[in-house]
Amino acid sequence: MVTDLVMTAPAIEQVWAWLHDVPDPEIPAISIIDLGIVRDVAWNEGECVVTITPTYSGCPAMAVIAEAIEQALKNHGIEQIRLTTQLSPAWTTDWMTDSGKTKLKGYGIAPPAQQAIDISGISRRNAPAVPAVACPHCGSGNTRCTSQFGSTPCKALYQCIDCREPFDYFKCH
Ligand SMILES: [Zn+2]
Repeated sequence: MVTDLVMTAPAIEQVWAWLHDVPDPEIPAISIIDLGIVRDVAWNEGECVVTITPTYSGCPAMAVIAEAIEQALKNHGIEQIRLTTQLSPAWTTDWMTDSGKTKLKGYGIAPPAQQAIDISGISRRNAPAVPAVACPHCGSGNTRCTSQFGSTPCKALYQCIDCREPFDYFKCH
């Protein structure tokens, strides 16, 4: 019986494909795969083990994401699911896929900049580095941070000086 179970278990690639359909609860336009938080999918004695790395420790969305993953896999007939959390190495915005960044922009959220650029050129020890963030509406780099916290703690609120549109920026760290 155990052998049969293993034989009929969906392929790892199939599980990844299903996870690709699980939206990020905070930004439904992108999937959790786009977000880059799923580190590993494996079968372990008939149990589907999904390893995720949270974007922010204490990010309230993680519990929702865990539930969404379980629900999605159950919908595809996987009964035994184990979610493990891997904290190290820490998630970075570099793990976000290019398609994820593109979708984020289409959703009106500026995708994370590759690196925070210190505009002054001088390292200020206590001031957070100010990333050069392009406006997702008009593409202008002439933007300013209006609040370190946007609609969620993971985002900052920016405003475009050129087109005057406010937008969320997905924070880098
Ligand atoms: Zn703009």
